[in-house]
Amino acid sequence: MHLVKGAFILKFIALGGAGEVGASCYLLEIAGKKILLDAGLRVNRLGKESLPYLNKLDHVDLVIISHAHMDHSGAIPLVYKRFPEAPIICTYPTKLLSEVLWKDSVKIWNDLEEEGGPAPLYDLELVEQTSFKLQDRPFNEWFEPIPDIKLYLHPSGHIMGAAAVLIDTEDAKVVFTGDMSAVKQRTVDGMEPIDFFNPNVVITESTYGGNIHASRKAEEQALARDIGDVLENGGTVLIPSFALGRAQELILILVNSMRGGQIPKYDLYVDGMVRTICDLYSEMEDDWPQSLKNFVKNSRQPLYWNQGGKNIPKVEKVNYKERYGLLVDMTPKIIISSSGMLTGGPSVLYAQSILERDNGAIFFTGYQDEEAPGRALLELKTGDEFQLADKKFKVRCKIGKYNLSAHADQIHLCQQLSYMSPDAVILIHGEREALQSLRTKLLDKYVVWVAQNGAEINPLESPKWLGESTAMQLEVENLIFTGTLQEFKNGRVGLKFEEDLAGTDAFKKFFSGFTRVEGKVRGNKLIVKAVPEEDKSQT
Ligand SMILES: [Zn+2]
Ligand SMILES: [Zn+2]
Repeated sequence: MHLVKGAFILKFIALGGAGEVGASCYLLEIAGKKILLDAGLRVNRLGKESLPYLNKLDHVDLVIISHAHMDHSGAIPLVYKRFPEAPIICTYPTKLLSEVLWKDSVKIWNDLEEEGGPAPLYDLELVEQTSFKLQDRPFNEWFEPIPDIKLYLHPSGHIMGAAAVLIDTEDAKVVFTGDMSAVKQRTVDGMEPIDFFNPNVVITESTYGGNIHASRKAEEQALARDIGDVLENGGTVLIPSFALGRAQELILILVNSMRGGQIPKYDLYVDGMVRTICDLYSEMEDDWPQSLKNFVKNSRQPLYWNQGGKNIPKVEKVNYKERYGLLVDMTPKIIISSSGMLTGGPSVLYAQSILERDNGAIFFTGYQDEEAPGRALLELKTGDEFQLADKKFKVRCKIGKYNLSAHADQIHLCQQLSYMSPDAVILIHGEREALQSLRTKLLDKYVVWVAQNGAEINPLESPKWLGESTAMQLEVENLIFTGTLQEFKNGRVGLKFEEDLAGTDAFKKFFSGFTRVEGKVRGNKLIVKAVPEEDKSQT
């Protein structure tokens, strides 16, 4: 661990998106410039509660959007409104996708306002102006959007257009991972390691910092098998899905499973915002991975809206009228609809129709927020009562969760960091438990900062450390005393130290609260550890 304490200023402050997944918005002060990395919303909240602390911003020189998901892009129009001069950089797919998601949000907010909800955060006019301001840049090349700041957008997997941002300046080098995944998906390749750039600081997402994902293939197979069972039993399967990314993958996975005979062939119905995003994905042929280009060419079918054929299911966009037909017709079929956590959108209506049917199923495939109805439903048993929107239900249908995550797990997060080998790491975009678990994994290699909303971090300065226990753990790891071994006649062994060990602060901290120690010989080293009194197994 070698920290460079620079004469320059390098500051980081999370305005949102620290200790949570939502409202990602980070201000980086580097080389005398203020760079805003993402500005998203809390997608489960409404109005002002959904916003990051934008009022903490007094000036912004440059804005970068890592990818189009609303938790990263949703507050960008408000940033533009306050700082219209600052260039906004993103990839081409992010530009197209963000605009569509912003417009959809305005529509939803306007409807909610009519029902007594809070005032919309922005309107269509501001969306138009902001979209016009977005500067799209290609992946994999350096450019200098403002003086002294060089940027490089590295494909980060996750969803189409998602980028990790490499920032190179005279003062320091920083990487912001955005959301990332090394697993190859059908609509986007996995992230390649960043092994060509050696940053001082990496700001990394930590969504699954505490998890190790099950094999993707096994999860896809389990999903296919369980869907097959429900369809053969005459039931409808609802897969609530995030509109952008997951749903596009799911459709391709299911169509493929039907073509391969793993799932009986039944029609797929696609509803909500998912439809519009599928249309956009279809248009962005240049940005498809090679494998997808080949697949579409060989299948002689459009990417999404298949007409159906011998082994090919029909994939249909549901319109408003058809939706109400589908809600009562619960014959075998698959419905894929936003939102992914049952927080709104048509997936809520479909779920309400399915919940009390024995032969139906609701299968989740993505992240479920702590407060989301989807998370609550997963914790219930058959027969339990469940409130969804304004109605109460007795859960009768099958409920399942399959991990098709588009986020790195703990192993991948650690690997990516080891390729970049930074001095300091800042953990963002994860719930407390995930952050703590990842921090523990990384502590012996890097200086690790767990960001907190509103708290400033100087990542390259000697850390004061955020918690006493971390300081203790690190000091103890580096605590080495030299002494001599003494053997007594009764078989007891003693250690004699040259200095007054018991008088040192580190010793007091190390052994405070402990009266027993455990010694282990490793090679020619004796490792001594304090053991809690009740833990007899260790003695
Ligand atoms: Zn994302
Ligand atoms: Zn995210």
